[in-house]
Amino acid sequence: MPLSSAQHEMESMMSDQQEQGHRKQDEGHPSGGSGDEHAGHEQMFRRRFWICLAPSVPVLLYSPSLQDWLGFSMPAFPGSFWMVPVFSIIVFALGGIPFLRMAVRELRDRQPGMMMLISLAITVAFVFSLATLGLVEGDPFFWELVTLIDVMLLGHWVEMRSVRQASGALNELAKLLPDTAERVADSETEEVPVTELSEGDIVLVRPGGSVPADGKVVEGRSELNEAMITGESKSVAKKEGDEVIGGTVNGDGSLRVEISATGDDTALAGIMRMVEEAQKGKSRSQMLADRAAALLFYIAVAVAAVAAAVWWAIMGFDDEVVRRVATVLVVACPHALGLAVPLVLAITTTMGASNGILVRDRIALERARELDTVVFDKTGTLTEGKQSLVEMAVAGEGDEDRALSLAAAAESDSEHMIARALREAAKERELEPAKAHDFEASKGRGVTATVDGIKVRVGGPNMLEELEIEPSERLGRFAEEQGEEGRSVVYLVEEGKTSAAFALADTPREESREAVAKLKELGLRVVMMTGDSEPVARSVAKELGIDDWFAGVLPEHKDDRIQELQDQGHIVAMVGDGVNDAPALTRADVGIAIGSGTDVAVQSAGIILVKNRPLDVPRILRLSHLTRRKMVQNLWWAAGYNIVALPAAAGALAPFGILLSPAVGALLMSISTVIVAINAQLMRRYEL
Ligand code: ADP
Ligand code: MG
Repeated sequence: MPLSSAQHEMESMMSDQQEQGHRKQDEGHPSGGSGDEHAGHEQMFRRRFWICLAPSVPVLLYSPSLQDWLGFSMPAFPGSFWMVPVFSIIVFALGGIPFLRMAVRELRDRQPGMMMLISLAITVAFVFSLATLGLVEGDPFFWELVTLIDVMLLGHWVEMRSVRQASGALNELAKLLPDTAERVADSETEEVPVTELSEGDIVLVRPGGSVPADGKVVEGRSELNEAMITGESKSVAKKEGDEVIGGTVNGDGSLRVEISATGDDTALAGIMRMVEEAQKGKSRSQMLADRAAALLFYIAVAVAAVAAAVWWAIMGFDDEVVRRVATVLVVACPHALGLAVPLVLAITTTMGASNGILVRDRIALERARELDTVVFDKTGTLTEGKQSLVEMAVAGEGDEDRALSLAAAAESDSEHMIARALREAAKERELEPAKAHDFEASKGRGVTATVDGIKVRVGGPNMLEELEIEPSERLGRFAEEQGEEGRSVVYLVEEGKTSAAFALADTPREESREAVAKLKELGLRVVMMTGDSEPVARSVAKELGIDDWFAGVLPEHKDDRIQELQDQGHIVAMVGDGVNDAPALTRADVGIAIGSGTDVAVQSAGIILVKNRPLDVPRILRLSHLTRRKMVQNLWWAAGYNIVALPAAAGALAPFGILLSPAVGALLMSISTVIVAINAQLMRRYEL
């Protein structure tokens, strides 16, 4: 049974919805995920179980077959014969009808499943037992009917509880935010609900307190525990000017924080939205499980029919035929099957989130296990992306300051790291670049602008190639030398001639080398792709231990390169950060965006690395493998057990003296669900 139909069932239980409402209020926290729906069920099943217990007792005590079997008797009184049927009818009405109502819902949705099977089983048992009171020959099995109903209620109650515990991880995220915050007003502070905070408010975060929303430290120093958001277990030092994330926990210092984002705009809300979305999305294995669950319904009905026919033929019609039918129907209930995959995925997504890996697309995560090639963008992904000007050269008699000033002016509107580096260098030299007009950026090549009446361009080798300009000899040599060192070179072009060249250095991320080594160890091919020139690519690749690279790739060709690899039969992941990486991220089998990258990149990717660490890429693979393993295990516990349980329920073991009663069948079914839930929970113990 898929989770969605569990929702429907609940909606049909009007009277029980109130209880759920209360529970939500009690908890006082926003809710999400499927945990709450199950909590509503849990309450209902628990209540019904306790209510049904009392009328079940007289049924058991006055049941002739049970008395015979256990060798006891009860005092008879006028009408004592009617004790058993009357109390059975009460139990059926109180404990059985809810299942029937949910079955009606399944029928209406044309998705016959668990509730249908349970309803068939208890109805067959009930109607047969009533019929024995006058219509047909045979012993009634009222006491078995009431135990079946009781076990079903108890089983569902316990199942729902394990399910809630396994899937409530999203709520844990919601609980990170405190309810109130201390807002600084003039010289004092006032306590206000977090929902009343707005941008620009200053809040006081005391030692040990939680940061109520995203913001910037304006006063104080402390160390924050950000593990819940980024997965970083070490505390992070924060001082004036640093950004803090809502939901993280303050250390020993006290901080005054200026709020920059509240409510749905915070990082935490973003994470929750993504986890929720990912949980809604159906994965491939989920669809497989749903189909199997639907199939199991028909298999169960067929096996029940065959079992009935065979018993009838061999032993004649009696209560045992009905008992076999009921047991088969109960054992085959695909409850566990509907939960096997969603439970694992719920835990996977939250495990990922707490390790800095946000899964937006579950199919991407499932795919990650099959990867054989990982393509990394260079700038901003393998490297910090914080470029700085390290050296420059001018053509002929040129003046360095003038050249840098012109370049910075032309770059004044660009968002590119190179532009930022040039502007900063100009500032350091206390130059005051003139105003630029007619700015135009050409992605992956450079920029054009009019400065002081001259047309100026700043760009890399790609741009020169496009303009069909050769750098002057001196600049060409400069570029070659710098390229060997792994530095990117951009040219200043005035009136169609190169007049200066700037060498920019960018440090590779500390972990890039390690990440590359890990991936290679796992047997993957690592490829670097960059818009930068060949010598720079070669030098960075060598430093990081990468064997293959594509250099000078224009943004519009990045996805073609991915396609080429795919055409060769590779399953490819692309890791990137920039706008220029977006098409490649979408094209790749698994698109992985650096969290600090551009929004476009983040939205094109299936997985986001919050901590900007390339080392998280091998972690994704591990998570993917773990997810897969747990799913397969769960599918076996959920569906595979029927290979043994169904024949046993049908009576195949009768020659060995083993006959399952309907209640034992119900017990087995519930145990299978509980095992599935526990098995998913065990995932949490893995370190990624
Ligand atoms: P990557 O693929 O490594 O992330 P980009 O595609 O952003 O790099 O840029 C590729 C090349 O284009 C840069 O190495 C640089 O030579 C040139 N370039 C792009 N934008 C600019 C700019 N604003 N100013 C100067 N050069 C630029
Ligand atoms: Mg980049």
